[in-house]
This record gives sequence, structure tokens and C-alpha cells, in this order.
Amino acid sequence: MNCQLSIINSELIERSSHVVICAHVNPDGDAIGSALALKHYLERRGKQATVIVPNIFPDFLKWMPGTDSILIHTNAKHQEKIKAAIDVADLVIVCDLNQPNRLAGLEEAIMQSKAPRVLIDHHLDPADFCQVTISHPEMCATGEVICHLLHQQGELDDISIDEAICLYAAMMCDTGAFSFNSNRPVIYEYISHLLARGIDKDQIYRNVFWTASEARLRLQGYLLYVNMKVLHDRHTAIMTLTNEQRRLFKIKNGDTEGIVNIPLQILGMRLSIFINEDTEHPGTMKLSLRSVGDFPCDQMASRFFNGGGHKNASGGKLQCTMEEAITRVNAAIDTYADLLK
Ligand code: 5GP
Ligand code: MN
Repeated sequence: MNCQLSIINSELIERSSHVVICAHVNPDGDAIGSALALKHYLERRGKQATVIVPNIFPDFLKWMPGTDSILIHTNAKHQEKIKAAIDVADLVIVCDLNQPNRLAGLEEAIMQSKAPRVLIDHHLDPADFCQVTISHPEMCATGEVICHLLHQQGELDDISIDEAICLYAAMMCDTGAFSFNSNRPVIYEYISHLLARGIDKDQIYRNVFWTASEARLRLQGYLLYVNMKVLHDRHTAIMTLTNEQRRLFKIKNGDTEGIVNIPLQILGMRLSIFINEDTEHPGTMKLSLRSVGDFPCDQMASRFFNGGGHKNASGGKLQCTMEEAITRVNAAIDTYADLLK
């Protein structure tokens, strides 16, 4: 059932007592922020709510209220608690993804659960794997979808400051601090409600975008100076990072977040592709694509890199060496030469 109306007050939530909230693999700020906002919301309404994510999330999100309680599927110490939470769940809310395989290692347990599933998301073309699908691809973040649902219910002025912080962070992260995909006026109406709850948006910005480890800053300089190749005739930049270089710079997961956007600062650039050797699965190359304007990253990612995403921000993966990945990226760019000229 595709349901554009609010379910926040629906019987499904009313009847539930133990809710599992899960989000996508390599969770980003929108995944963590929207999942935690829902957790705080449900707990305020007297429910037990557990956030479970497939794997670790970056350090720069760890200031968000509630992150200590998040269960991580790849963490052996969390396995038992995850199983117990899914076993007793009478409702599962899936956030910020459109395909069950984005749950990675959690997919099987979530899909086998007898509890009804609700999807809350903003990616294009949601797969039909939940009893209720709340999909708003026009919105900037899953955090905005939740603001919209709360606003429809007249509840946006009643939320706690923790809920407000998580919702603001979710939208801020998916829009590069409201610098892309963020021209719809209603976003700022929601933000004014969140500010009225007492959030410090300047502090939230500093926590996410203006805090970096020394390793991250040095790596950033190295990547731009040494590893970035600019294809001027294609208005495209390609950057690479191997696990060997990662070790050299003592780089942790998440320390590379956002670096893919930097080459788009070069005047005229239309596409930036970052090829990252996967830290958890050596031999897998994780690709991040970012574009400005009309270039369809999602099409390129699904045609060439087993992935997908949004028009201006997509990702995918390849099982091959770095050299092979670079060759395949160049082939993909050649195929789109007309759009990139
Ligand atoms: P990132 O480059 O930050 O990893 O991913 C950007 C966006 O691309 C994500 O928000 C997600 O929508 C999409 N994405 C990333 N990796 C994959 C993937 O492997 N498969 C699909 N379908 N989408 C992806
Ligand atoms: Mn999102």
C-alpha cells in the first residue's frame, strides 16, 4: 500500500509496543538522524524503540542524542540484542532506503520478521517490500518526510528538543547544509518549528561539517593534490583511495565523507566520481557519484556500477581491482560524453 497520508497517529503505531527502526548500510546523517528522531518520538509516546543499522556509522555523527543506544549488526557484541529486539518487535520502521538489499546483512532478519513493516523514505522508485510505503522523492531527506508527517498531525510544535535536533541534522546532512536539493520553501517552515523547539543549528553545523580529524584534513589535501584526475573535456573529476593509502593516513570509516563533493567547486565541473576501496570487503570498490545540474548520477550508477540513488548523488559498487574500476569509470564517462561535453 502506498500511503501518502500520515501514519504517525495510525493504529499501526498506536497498537505497537516494541518497535524496531532500521536504516541503510553505511548509514549517513539522514539515516541516523531520521531513525533516532523516530526513536525519541516513539519513546515519548511510551513505546520501546530500538534503532538497528547494518554497519558502523561515522564518528562525526556520534554527538547526536541517542547514538549510544544504536545496535550495529556487524558488531558481534550486539548480535544477541539485535535478535531479541527483532523477535519481540510488533512494528518495524525502515528508513531512508528504497530497496531491501540496502539493509545488507540485516535484510534477512528484517524480511523474516512477522511484524508489519513501514517504509519512510525519499528515494526514487521504492520497491514494494513493506505493508505501508511512505515515499516522498520530492523531499530533501527522510528527516523532511518525518517533519511533514508530524506537521500534518499538528505535532511539530510538541516534539522534544532531541527529536528536533535529529530531524534538523538529517535534513542538513542530505542537503550539504542546505546548499543543494533544498529550494522548496516548506523546508524552512519546518526548520522554523525546529528552531522554536530550541535547537542550536549553528552548533549542529559545526558538529557535522566543521569538525575533522587531523588525519582527515591531511588525507583531503593529499587526495586533491595527488589522486584527483580532472578530465577537462568531460567536466568530470575522478578521485581514488585504496586501503593502503587509508592505512598510511590512519583513516577511519567516515573520514572520507563529503570529499567527493569538493571537485565540483571547480568552475564548470559537472560530475565527480570517488572510487573507494571498501574497508570491510577488500576487493570491492565503493563508488560515490555527485553531479551539478541535470547530469543523472542515478542512471550512471545503475547502468555501470550496480547502484543507484538520487539524480545528483548516487553510489554503487564493483567487484574488481582499483585499476579495473578506473577503466570502467572511464568507459561510463565516455558513454555519457554527450551530456558531459
Ligand atoms: P554515498 O556516495 O554517500 O555513499 O551515496 C550517495 C547516495 O547514493 C546514497 O544516499 C544512496 O541513495 C545512493 N547509494 C549509495 N550506494 C548505493 C548502492 O550501492 N546502491 C544503491 N541503489 N544506491 C546507493
Ligand atoms: Mn536520505
